[in-house]
Amino acid sequence: MNREILDRYGRSIRVLRITVTHTCNYKCFFCHMEGEDPGNRSELSAEEIRVVAKAFRRIGVSEFKITGGEPLLRRDLIDIVRKLKSLGAEDISMTTNGSLLYEKVDDLRAAGLDRINISLHSLRRDVYAKITGVDALDKVLKGVERAKRLDFRRIKINVVILRGLNDDEISDFIEFIRGDDRLILQLIELHPVGRGGEVFNRYFMSLEEIEKRIIEVSDKLSIRRELHNRPLYHLRDGGYIEIVKPVSNPIFCAGCNRLRLTSDGFLRPCLMRPDVGIDVKPILRREDLGEDEKISEIIRAILRIIEIREPSAMWRIDPGLDYLVHRYSFMDSLRGRIRINIPKRYIVS
Ligand code: SAM
Repeated sequence: MNREILDRYGRSIRVLRITVTHTCNYKCFFCHMEGEDPGNRSELSAEEIRVVAKAFRRIGVSEFKITGGEPLLRRDLIDIVRKLKSLGAEDISMTTNGSLLYEKVDDLRAAGLDRINISLHSLRRDVYAKITGVDALDKVLKGVERAKRLDFRRIKINVVILRGLNDDEISDFIEFIRGDDRLILQLIELHPVGRGGEVFNRYFMSLEEIEKRIIEVSDKLSIRRELHNRPLYHLRDGGYIEIVKPVSNPIFCAGCNRLRLTSDGFLRPCLMRPDVGIDVKPILRREDLGEDEKISEIIRAILRIIEIREPSAMWRIDPGLDYLVHRYSFMDSLRGRIRINIPKRYIVS
């Protein structure tokens, strides 16, 4: 049975983003830390992650994205991937800074990792070190090459565009991925969350001008409705460029299909809402409950989170009235007046 769970805004829940650790070997000065508490050092075990993922599988979620911190620092990462795969996950992906990829990527693929996102914010050694705090560009490039030799479904190169630092490298990045249809260059707008909030005014730049240049080298544009309504440009000679605009794409949240599991075991609806969450550790650690009972309790928690889930950017779906309102402009003053009237939560089987 194919189940689909929709929230109050008609958005389907398809992906669980799992932070497996908060520890990182990089010091990216803009890091949003997935919206999690910077002081958080506790971690769910691989087995606890499996039980939460199993609850998500029961409500029809079959895609899992692993993130961090730096996920490759978790010694049992291969075990986590294997456990997710054993649940029948259709798509397991991971976002990594790539510094330890070369050594681990073969085992990860063998364990069932389907896709990989590698953050690579500059192709210039000095700029890379300035952005990440680590002189490791060569190691990451070696890891990318190794990953390209394996049969991953997709490899994404993630670049957060930082005004005055790497915004002049777009052509080099395009050359880096051009010609290979498994590669996507993912250009990401700086998000004012975590450290990103502290440096936002200095480094944020709209991707509008960059997009105009990309149009010139592309022959097709599609919109990834199931993934934040991201524009995806198809390069003429192969390869893709995806534009991620959490700030200036007003229908970004309309295409959001994910929930989050923090490294310390909280279910969260959005990285913009660190104030909203349900701690599932007490359920996972109850000794009087068997696995099925824990899963039932966790499903109840997931449904509560889905019920309070709301977009950070609000939009209006109204025939003839398609104006959009965004959190970073005047959304707050309109909050409440622009809700879409979709019946509370409902489940389609
Ligand atoms: N350590 C891993 C890495 O570097 O990819 C995974 C964690 S990192 C928080 C996940 C992704 O978020 C990376 O692609 C990173 O570049 C991106 N990111 C971090 N801070 C951001 C921000 N303020 N705005 C936009 N993207 C950000």
